[in-house]
Amino acid sequence: MSDRLVLLNPGPVNTDSRTRAAMASDDACHREPEAAALMDRVRSKAANIAGGQQDHDAVLLGGSGTAALEAAVSSVVPSDGRLLILSNGHYAERMTAIAELHGIATTVLDFGWCNPIDIAAVRLHLETHDDISHVGLVHHETSTGMLNPLRPLGALVHEFGRELIVDAISSLGCEEVHVELDHIDWLVGTANKCLEGLPGVSFVVARRESLRRLDAVPRRSYYLDLHGHWQAQILTGAPLFTPPLQVVAAFEVALDLAIEEGTANRHNRYLERATSVRNGLSERGAKFLLDERDRAVSTTNVFLPSGVSYEFLHDALKSFGFVIYAAQKVLPGVYRVANMGQISARDIERFLEAYDSVMSSASSPQNNQAYEEV
Ligand SMILES: *Cc1c(COP(=O)(O)O)cnc(C)c1O
Repeated sequence: MSDRLVLLNPGPVNTDSRTRAAMASDDACHREPEAAALMDRVRSKAANIAGGQQDHDAVLLGGSGTAALEAAVSSVVPSDGRLLILSNGHYAERMTAIAELHGIATTVLDFGWCNPIDIAAVRLHLETHDDISHVGLVHHETSTGMLNPLRPLGALVHEFGRELIVDAISSLGCEEVHVELDHIDWLVGTANKCLEGLPGVSFVVARRESLRRLDAVPRRSYYLDLHGHWQAQILTGAPLFTPPLQVVAAFEVALDLAIEEGTANRHNRYLERATSVRNGLSERGAKFLLDERDRAVSTTNVFLPSGVSYEFLHDALKSFGFVIYAAQKVLPGVYRVANMGQISARDIERFLEAYDSVMSSASSPQNNQAYEEV
């Protein structure tokens, strides 16, 4: 057994020891110049990794990915606008719930969980609905493991002159995402998934001009006011509220490591791990929720072995030091194995060995509790 828990859940992830060490950085006051300098560096590195250039800013939010998502969705759609959400899983439903909670006019094109987004249907909707001002897309729909076709959808939304909000929370860092090439107006990211930082800070990347224009949009939230945070961070050089500075310091180290590795290399590293998981489980008879071509490189949804409950599999694997993840209720009989973060090839080999031990104990007659009563 290894000395660490191997996190095969889709975030938070196993991090580099240098990232964790930065959490123990000195106590600091967020209104001092050294804190402003840290925030500035992190903002520019976060914007950079998303493809942002000189005219882009990143706004940092204290909170998990949903904080940045809610800040973006609630801050960018004007009162006479309408948000079209392209939905095929849990996180698009979350975006819809956020928009509706804030009283934003919302239309949902629901393709159904696990179904690809029908680009022709989106085109038709945009052609026939001038009232749509914004389109919301989840890039990697982590609930199913599906990677949605960002580039063609970005081009389409741009062609119709609408603005695109992308939840890139579980894709940025390991999948190709680029605010310019993908025509993303509002990109939402977080520290603790494929950027391999620690939980507690998330961000929105946008063009500076678009952020400036937000002063014309009604302010729907006190704490998650994107325009307010942008003004404070960029114009006055002091954060609006107390940020988790130690988490931000760790995020800077994680961003440096991500930039050093490069997104293409990280993509390949994750793909190698995912391929080992998929081949290994497939050799053991497992079936997968999605066709191979639809899968992102960081998450695999797997059908539970016949008769084995999620709770049994989870607890048994955890006793070997591996954390798997339940799927949403909409997907009964499915569990998730993610490979975000610092997971070695050896970790996956050991995972498959643990899986074998667990399955042989599950099939032994003394261990009937492994089987759900049907
Ligand atoms: C993880 C995730 C989120 C945010 O979850 P938090 O728990 O708030 O970090 C949002 N969207 C997607 C696609 C995710 O994978």
